[in-house]
Amino acid sequence: MKVCKFGGSSLADAAQVNKVIDIVLADPARRIVVVSAPGKRHSGDTKVTDLLIALAETALKGDNTDREFGEVAERYASMADALKLGDGIVKLIEDDLHGRLAQAKSLAPEEFMDLMKAAGEDNNAKLVAAAFEARGRKARYASPKDTGMVLKGSFGDATLDPESYARLSRAFSNFEGIVVYPGFFGYTREGKVATFPRGGSDITGSILAAAVCADVYENFTDVDSVYPCDPRIVEEVKNGDGIPTMTYREMRELAYAGFGVFNDDAVIPAVKARIPINIRNTNHPSAPGTMIQQSRRVVPGTVVGIASADGFCNIVVEKYLMNRQIGFGRRLLQVLEEAGISYEHMPSGVDSQCVVVKECYLPKENEHKILQALRRELEPDYVTIERDLTMVMVVGEGMCYTPGMLAKACLALASAGVSVSMVNQGSSEVSFMIAIRRQDRDPAVKALYRAFFS
Ligand code: ASP
Repeated sequence: MKVCKFGGSSLADAAQVNKVIDIVLADPARRIVVVSAPGKRHSGDTKVTDLLIALAETALKGDNTDREFGEVAERYASMADALKLGDGIVKLIEDDLHGRLAQAKSLAPEEFMDLMKAAGEDNNAKLVAAAFEARGRKARYASPKDTGMVLKGSFGDATLDPESYARLSRAFSNFEGIVVYPGFFGYTREGKVATFPRGGSDITGSILAAAVCADVYENFTDVDSVYPCDPRIVEEVKNGDGIPTMTYREMRELAYAGFGVFNDDAVIPAVKARIPINIRNTNHPSAPGTMIQQSRRVVPGTVVGIASADGFCNIVVEKYLMNRQIGFGRRLLQVLEEAGISYEHMPSGVDSQCVVVKECYLPKENEHKILQALRRELEPDYVTIERDLTMVMVVGEGMCYTPGMLAKACLALASAGVSVSMVNQGSSEVSFMIAIRRQDRDPAVKALYRAFFS
């Protein structure tokens, strides 16, 4: 059995919904269909989730909601009309929205906001199920409440209660036909609607794939596959250059440094259950996409992708004979822990220790306080914070046990005139990270791509 998830752009209008139905019907193994709310139809458009947030905000202020309500209702009505679903479904969706809006005063604001956000997926699942029926195919909407998708944590940032797996698996045992399931939300133990973080329909799909032990989790989006590097940076990366297979480890490393196909949380349930993930394109369903799995055949000396992420800074601490001071590293990290700063990497020299952190955790206005605390705790010879760093990750299982990979990268960077600030490679050898100045990012990624892929 396959669980397939379709994102907002795949369901933005009636034509897209028909494509989705064609895809599902083309393979009888596609039995569980997880849907997002309708997304953008064109670049200037607004996602239904964003329209719902605006509607909720207006309702919370106690202002008239007619305009915002109309915008949301119109998105569904135009789809229902083009799909010839009749007025019944439009009435159902409008009544549902009115019912939710009526709770603006009785719920806490964050609870109300989640209730409204979830309406995007919930009503779209009902509409898509009706669209299957209109094409003469049996499909039923399944509700996260009835199937036991119980979430915990904060509203807007909820996580799955692990006991849900058993309930979901029971709910889906022996089911018939096609089930259309809304992504992005579940219910708390108290029965309140709670949503995952934005983009959370991927998480729902991954959870269901794990719960039913699917053969594959197909994630349909609007790209043919995962590309070996950002085509906006390297123009010569073309459609056919997609990555056919990659391992979970490779995906994680690339996602860490900015590959936006999946968010980290989304992959966890499928990865833990060892379900292969297939990234595919709704607008080009014959393309095989990228398969992400536990292992793959690896050609030694090859790289799967090059990722880059901006927005890092480096805390540099120098102290003569640092290596003889027991507890130096612990005290350094304790300063960061007490300031609530999570760190990313810790490359070190003989008498220097660097800690790489995301700039968003260490804004400029907090810099003075942190530097003071480090001076007090460590009495260093020198301490500073370097900003505007970019992390470039070169990733590939094929790098393991292959001499010369780092040399090749450094040579490519040197030829492009890029100076390397730091290098970090873990013992897994599945990736190495190179820190460079932000302004060198594009020439660096281009040079690395040409060195490893041309
Ligand atoms: N509709 C939600 C969002 O826009 C969730 C999703 O599409 O995955 O964030």
